[in-house]
Amino acid sequence: MSQRHYRALSWQMALGFTLLAGVCALAIGFYMINARQHVGANYAALVADVVRAQQHPVLLRHTLDRLQSPTPQLDQERLENLLWRIPQHIDGVTYGLERSQLDSGAYASALDRLRRVEEQMPELQHHIDDVLGGAAPDGLTRLGYVIENELSWAYSELNELIHVAAAEQRLTMERLTWAIGALVVLVLMVVGGLMLALLRLHREREAVKRLSLADELTGLGNRRYLLEVAGRLHEQSLRNNQPLSIALLDLDLFKELNDSLGHPAGDRVLKAFANAIQEEIRQADFVARIGGEEFCILMPDTPSEGAFELAERIRHHIAGLTEPTLGAPTTLTVSLGLATGQGQGSHFDSLYSRADKALYRAKANGRNCTRVA
Ligand code: GH3
Ligand code: MG
Ligand code: MG
Repeated sequence: MSQRHYRALSWQMALGFTLLAGVCALAIGFYMINARQHVGANYAALVADVVRAQQHPVLLRHTLDRLQSPTPQLDQERLENLLWRIPQHIDGVTYGLERSQLDSGAYASALDRLRRVEEQMPELQHHIDDVLGGAAPDGLTRLGYVIENELSWAYSELNELIHVAAAEQRLTMERLTWAIGALVVLVLMVVGGLMLALLRLHREREAVKRLSLADELTGLGNRRYLLEVAGRLHEQSLRNNQPLSIALLDLDLFKELNDSLGHPAGDRVLKAFANAIQEEIRQADFVARIGGEEFCILMPDTPSEGAFELAERIRHHIAGLTEPTLGAPTTLTVSLGLATGQGQGSHFDSLYSRADKALYRAKANGRNCTRVA
């Protein structure tokens, strides 16, 4: 897989991961807002309604107690006010209960009491009218205490019920929130783990590919890599109408060196030679070991003169290498064949074969020299 594909894949995975994380965050956000509304707002409103309504039986009892005192007094304004507010609050609480998540069976008896109170309100009004008309307050107080009792019971039952339910629900929501959080972390960990595994796999594949393109002894590119790079550079030179030069290098009488000093010494010399080439070439140039003691340099955007200059520089560099660098008690020379192509009609294969012929001439002309096709 090329670097470009690898990068594209990384981007795709990163995008997928971000999208997944975003969706999870949205889901959690949505869930938490809902949970807050559910537990907090609904029950808070209902509890407030019930607590407010709990004042009614207290006020009613207070008013009735004053009617029964040694100096009876009818607080008409308060009673009228209660007559108006009690049914209103009963309606509000009933509506809140129906909208809540509470089990209707749990508040049925309290609701029955409240409905009974509602039904008794007109009768209470009659009794007030009678007392105002001069009748004894007995009927009013009897019914008033019944209503007060029913309201007290109903509201205290509801108060407890709502508090217990709200606490339970809050606990459940908290547990659910933790569970969802843990689930999301788990999913992210799994996805992250998968991504890491995929990345590692691709990195390993790349490493294998790199190895398959490298020369084991010198670490330079091998023949396969050379052909891959050559195709690219050749295309680029055609597109930009730039010269592409190629140099073939072959160590002189290397067989003799091997035979006299041994194969390990020959290997050390090959490595020293590879290092020397790398010191001389430019960043844009590419060097590969294409055979035993044969190397090739590709020089993009380089005319014949430039290639010749580099070839001679390498040749002198090699001829000047001594035992400490070469790793063997010997001198080393190299023969080079050069070819340069530019524009249409300059096929890479023909460029290579021209350089090969030039190298042959260099060998034929006594070695340790550069020949240009
Ligand atoms: P010429 O100047 O004509 O090129 O002569 P030469 O001896 O260099 O050429 P020849 O092709 O006859 O010999 C190349 C030698 O390179 C043969 C082989 O012993 C040696 N050789 C090839 N690959 C390796 C390698 O990986 N390590 C070592 N130490 N020697 C190698
Ligand atoms: Mg050779
Ligand atoms: Mg040789």
